[in-house]
Amino acid sequence: MRIAVVGAGLGGVAAAVGLHRTGHEVTLFERAAELREAGTGIVVMPNGLHALDTLGLAEDVRGHVIRATRAGLRDRRGRPLLITDLNAAQSVFGTPVIIDRAELHRILRAPLPDALVRTATPIERLEPAPTSVRVIANDPPAATGVIADGTPGPTDMNVIANGTPIATVDAVIAADGIGSALRAQLFPDHPGPRRIGRMDLRGMLPRPAGLDPEPLAGQLVDRRNGAMFGLFPLGDDRLYWFTDTALHGPPPGPEEARRQMLSLMADWHPTVTAVIEATPPTAIYVDPIGALLDPLPSYVSGRVALLGDAAHAMSPDLGQGASQAFEDAAALTRHLTGATTTEVAQRLLRYDAERRPRAGTMVRAALRQSRLTSQTGPTAWLRDALLRTVPSRLAARQLAALWQV
Ligand SMILES: Cc1cc2nc3c(=O)[nH]c(=O)nc-3n(C[C@H](O)[C@H](O)[C@H](O)COP(=O)(O)OP(=O)(O)OC[C@H]3O[C@@H](n4cnc5c(N)ncnc54)[C@H](O)[C@@H]3O)c2cc1C
Repeated sequence: MRIAVVGAGLGGVAAAVGLHRTGHEVTLFERAAELREAGTGIVVMPNGLHALDTLGLAEDVRGHVIRATRAGLRDRRGRPLLITDLNAAQSVFGTPVIIDRAELHRILRAPLPDALVRTATPIERLEPAPTSVRVIANDPPAATGVIADGTPGPTDMNVIANGTPIATVDAVIAADGIGSALRAQLFPDHPGPRRIGRMDLRGMLPRPAGLDPEPLAGQLVDRRNGAMFGLFPLGDDRLYWFTDTALHGPPPGPEEARRQMLSLMADWHPTVTAVIEATPPTAIYVDPIGALLDPLPSYVSGRVALLGDAAHAMSPDLGQGASQAFEDAAALTRHLTGATTTEVAQRLLRYDAERRPRAGTMVRAALRQSRLTSQTGPTAWLRDALLRTVPSRLAARQLAALWQV
């Protein structure tokens, strides 16, 4: 079958590889001028790794396992509130990975032949017909589109002009992210993503000599203002950190955001301010957090399936956004294996039936986790008191339930 994948983020690339490997004629459309993933580190959970396994993509990713044996929550000075022993969950489900986003993207896209990728091609809309879907680009691909290695694309690509079809395909995978234009077209009554009143900063830096992140394993929370901080080693020589704080009004730029964070966290564990201070603003990313709080009625419309953040953008609190996109990619690949063009809509409905309940559960669980860590005042005091009484084994079991495939 001819399949267009729209959006070459982590989810779109994984789906394109899976579908290509099972014999479909795939074209991956990306609006950016080049294929790459910006940002800092990313955690891939055991369930995400399992999905990558089924796509034959996990081997090189697994080299980046987290060597932490503990997770959980601490107070702002690093004192434990609830520390989970990860060993039991890891021995059953495997170990999470923390990896540079750019490196992860490079690994995932490596098996995809360049001739199947069309960058600088923003897809404006789809025109579904009874037996196919026409893919309409914003700009004439001849002027802005570059096939990655400069060679012509597949010969049945019907390149015409601005606003006219650039491809006619049997199925479309819309992996165009949280702001998905295709989702808005397919589900015009859906309100789209909403801000949740939080802002995340992420930073990456060379590991300062002698700094051991292990004593801060887990996340630090401050019940005075609901702020949160996490720190991970990225390989042997770098660190990845993130903060989550309340956002009132428009998000500041990286320099101002770093200044605000240093002021807010001045009396936290000294490692917190040390790593934020040592990170140049150019290595800091500021994200106002949004999520698809209203679930979509379906991830599928006829011959079109939504995947990843386009379908179920969630707050990053459980580190599951990309892992859920990988589960989507694996499920789509499985359901479309051997499908003929007359079977597409039926097969995609199976994808929807499998994926929507699971991803919806993650969206809700991530939001609950966000509310838990961002509490302030008496509720936060109560939270901290309760967390101290929760047996570590129970917390590990809850974590394992999320990792289960
Ligand atoms: C602060 C923060 C921290 C996070 N940490 C983690 C973590 O540790 N672990 C984890 O699993 N998840 C994490 N996530 C979530 C994770 O980053 C996302 O869930 C994941 O990257 C989504 O991938 P995607 O492919 O669905 O979408 P995206 O990565 O958004 O990719 C969409 C792609 O589509 C392209 N595109 C958009 N519109 C068009 C168009 N019209 N035509 C063509 N191309 C188009 C875009 O340019 C982009 O390349 C975090 C998110 C945030 C904000």
